[in-house]
Amino acid sequence: MLSLVTGATTEVLLKKTERVKDPLTKEIQMLLPEMIRMMREENGVGLAAPQIGLSLRLAVAEVENEIFYFINPEITSLSQEKILFEEGCLSLPGEFFPILRSEEVTVRYQNEKGLPKKIRATGLLAIVIQHEVDHLEGILIVNRHKKQQRKNIPSSEKNYDRLA
Ligand SMILES: [Zn+2]
Repeated sequence: MLSLVTGATTEVLLKKTERVKDPLTKEIQMLLPEMIRMMREENGVGLAAPQIGLSLRLAVAEVENEIFYFINPEITSLSQEKILFEEGCLSLPGEFFPILRSEEVTVRYQNEKGLPKKIRATGLLAIVIQHEVDHLEGILIVNRHKKQQRKNIPSSEKNYDRLA
């Protein structure tokens, strides 16, 4: 049974993940629906493998009733236009941080069938993608927030309490 791992000092949440060699293995194929189930149960809009203790380059998301399986995602472009949102994270229960993200991203990945995909996303989906890819690089919002503060980015206008 899968369970969430939490905490800002938990090792698996702070290290870069390994690529998924073959999305079609039984293990990965069984893992994907489990991750969706867990994300929904926790009222999240996204869930990355490290959040359940697996250091794999894999995340799922559900935005506007559409499910995404991001296997080996790579962000290939980030817009200059930024947006500030108060983000939460299932790995840091009860903590929220204003995070500056690009308004638009392009991401390349493999889907649940192992097929190469490329999408351009804006709005909530763009934020979720950046949040999940951060997880795959071992970056938690608490640490991204600290980094931003050092650059003197003003904190918070919009409220955003979805969890990913
Ligand atoms: Zn998160």
